[in-house]
Amino acid sequence: MPASKVWAVVKANAYGHGLERAMRAFDDADGLAMIETEAAARLRELGWQKRLLLLEGFFDASDLPLLSRLKIDTAVHCDEQIDMLARAEPGMKVDVHLKMNSGMNRLGFTPAAFRGAWERLRALPAVGNITLMTHFANADDVLNPGLPLREQLSRFAAGTEGLPGERSLSNSAAVLACRELASHWVRPGIMLYGATPGGRSAREYGLEPAMTLESEIIGVQQVAAGESIGYGSRFTATAPMTVGVVACGYADGYPRHAPAGTPVIVDGVRTVIAGRVSMDMITVDLTPVPQARVGSRVELWGRSLPIDEVAGAAGTIGYELMCAVAPRVRMAED
Ligand SMILES: *Cc1c(COP(=O)(O)O)cnc(C)c1O
Repeated sequence: MPASKVWAVVKANAYGHGLERAMRAFDDADGLAMIETEAAARLRELGWQKRLLLLEGFFDASDLPLLSRLKIDTAVHCDEQIDMLARAEPGMKVDVHLKMNSGMNRLGFTPAAFRGAWERLRALPAVGNITLMTHFANADDVLNPGLPLREQLSRFAAGTEGLPGERSLSNSAAVLACRELASHWVRPGIMLYGATPGGRSAREYGLEPAMTLESEIIGVQQVAAGESIGYGSRFTATAPMTVGVVACGYADGYPRHAPAGTPVIVDGVRTVIAGRVSMDMITVDLTPVPQARVGSRVELWGRSLPIDEVAGAAGTIGYELMCAVAPRVRMAED
């Protein structure tokens, strides 16, 4: 979207990828956007000089001096935040992204209340630029009858009509599905990490995964027909089988709900998990990989196995798996 400036979204530790390396990777972005005030302050410490934005805004009046001093933009989505800005100490100045609730019914002012909120903000000495912002519920499914994207757009247009200021609209799904929606700012997150926001697969969108979660086989068992594997004995071998034990479990962020049959790659060969995911281990069927032994490389998701496939098998989305990667998982050196 060459006509738009880009907020690279780095909330939740850059979707589990690490804030610092995301900062380096997104050097070309016009700004970094997140939820956590501490992360924004840390990015300034690390030397990020372009813009920063808190997508839910500040949570307490005591955050305002930091925002003003470090030049961190803030979303404003409710009257209470405007009240806090009205009571700010003299000399403070923050750029604001006024958020409209255009139908998602999470954060923001209704279209009817939007102009009033804008006028209140405009009169406050603590408020610098005001950008107009909303968030789409169904950009991966634009015709969703619950709230079609066009309905959100027309509510946004009506509520902002005649107001000056830049507009900030698209998340990844809207960037990928609605190129014609070139607002001043776009806010992609998940696509920058190479997973899909929904709609088509990451590969079909031409996205490449940034994260690969890998481990090793740490044990091999020969399991006789009729024997079961793991807690709850939820999986029973119907024929003799070789089972590999992988050093990765839900304490690493692997989804505990992943059922038998969830794909996994061992030694470059695609196979499936068998038996319940436990805290520190999963068990995998080594039938298609007879050469596998202790030390064989296992890919849980990433380069060769789309995270969205694993997420789909576990009844969730790639976003959740990325964010859940646990601190004990070591990151590779650059
Ligand atoms: C998380 C978030 C985004 C990015 O969403 P993706 O689906 O990851 O692209 C954009 N805008 C807001 C307000 C967000 O909270």
